[in-house]
Amino acid sequence: MINKPPPSIIALDGPAASGKSTLGRILADSLGYLFFDTGIMYRAITWIALQRNLDLRDETVITELAKKAQIDIRPPSKADGRPCDVILGERDVTWEMRNGEVDANVSVVSAYAGVRQALSEQQRRIGMRGRVVMVGRDIGTVVLPQADLKIYLDASAEERAKRRFDEIIARGEKADYDEILRKVIERDRIDSTRAVAPLRPAEDAIIINSDKMNAKQVFAHVMELCK
Ligand code: C5P
Repeated sequence: MINKPPPSIIALDGPAASGKSTLGRILADSLGYLFFDTGIMYRAITWIALQRNLDLRDETVITELAKKAQIDIRPPSKADGRPCDVILGERDVTWEMRNGEVDANVSVVSAYAGVRQALSEQQRRIGMRGRVVMVGRDIGTVVLPQADLKIYLDASAEERAKRRFDEIIARGEKADYDEILRKVIERDRIDSTRAVAPLRPAEDAIIINSDKMNAKQVFAHVMELCK
């Protein structure tokens, strides 16, 4: 019997903190594929805009920034849980890009059509080479609609907030569950109601609700789907 090769282009979408990056990373590792977390790009533009004190409500200015920004992604230089280094200018912003201020503003930036166009083009160019697991909100619907396998990873907002809370506490930092929950719900609201490329499952996506599954179980399920 001839074994079918695994899907070459894998799109992995879903709401905030649904475990997409964790799943995407182990999936890419086990298949020997490139792991590409597109949220990094939206976060990077937001981080630069905040750093330069730009007006985030000014779509023209933010779009210009997205067209010109050089976002450098390199192999991880430290074993502190990072999947890669994100370098802007000469600065390592890998963790800074995940701070509360970026979380609170990234959905405004990512709703701009021009920003999405600039970033999606780059994502598509990389994704079309194949052997890739690309993670985001609109990969199966807009960036790579021809993906061979589309997964939409979902979980209740409460479960997602709890996982994010546990992660922060495990790093020895302080966290407020109610605040995390509020922010997760607000980010999803903006991401799923925007006019361009809103968060939603593609018609041919396989929806996985991970409320009652741990990361290992989700991974095993997706590996079955790859066969
Ligand atoms: O996945 P992550 O939480 O890092 O994404 C941060 C934000 O970037 C999302 O809340 C969303 O606003 C935006 N995003 C997007 N489209 C993608 C990936 C991320 O709009 N493909």
